[in-house]
Amino acid sequence: MSYIDIHTHLTHERFAADLDTVIANAIARGLSHIVVNGLEPRSNRTILAMAQQYEVVQPALGIYPVILPDTVEPFSTADEITFIATQAAQGKLLAIGECGLDGHLVGEETFAAQERVFLHLCEVAMQHDLPVIVHSRKRERRVAEMLIHHGVSRVNLHCFCGKVKLAQRLAEEQGYYFSIPANSRVNQGFQRMLATLPLDRILTETDAPWLAPVRGERNEPQNVALTIEHFAIIRNLSQEEACQQVYRNFCNLVKLPIITS
Ligand SMILES: [Zn+2]
Repeated sequence: MSYIDIHTHLTHERFAADLDTVIANAIARGLSHIVVNGLEPRSNRTILAMAQQYEVVQPALGIYPVILPDTVEPFSTADEITFIATQAAQGKLLAIGECGLDGHLVGEETFAAQERVFLHLCEVAMQHDLPVIVHSRKRERRVAEMLIHHGVSRVNLHCFCGKVKLAQRLAEEQGYYFSIPANSRVNQGFQRMLATLPLDRILTETDAPWLAPVRGERNEPQNVALTIEHFAIIRNLSQEEACQQVYRNFCNLVKLPIITS
């Protein structure tokens, strides 16, 4: 079985001491692709090195909409977008992300700047025929509006917390994908999404180290197996069918050939 984690942050300091083990455990669990998502210049560069070192790691570079001045060194978003575009042009990226909009952790005064960066990153993705992995917390409607308005078609909405009806509409009418975290069992929205979204639009993620299935613990990529278990039960599939379905969905989104065993 090929499990997929389309959204994780293995560059986080909580993985610094045992990254080899975390990745070995994920491979042992059956993960074929771990898409590590960048947030700012430092993580973006670390991810490129990580992808050289571990075959299972696939790079997605981006700029996180919640760039709080006290959490990262100041940087030029324009220069970073140029850097990301250069990597994309060299065929080094699987996706653009993390990118998007946030209205939960930061205020309205940041919205215009967030939208500018998001739009630029979407343009880079479209120019190089890459999917975008999108953060949309408390800005779900606006994210949808922008993506549709600008004709962005290869989209994964990660950890989507908007209305389930909106997710259904975006999946059915726009063909957008939704990656469901490993804590889906304790979240009603994710349960309903697993139950009602078209089967061919569902993906799995962890957002590790965050969103652990057990509150307060460190999450890690191998936990995508929990979402698959849950997905299988809700949709009356075997574990293997659920896993295959997500694997096929992932290959379709990122345009990889589907390898059947
Ligand atoms: Zn994330």
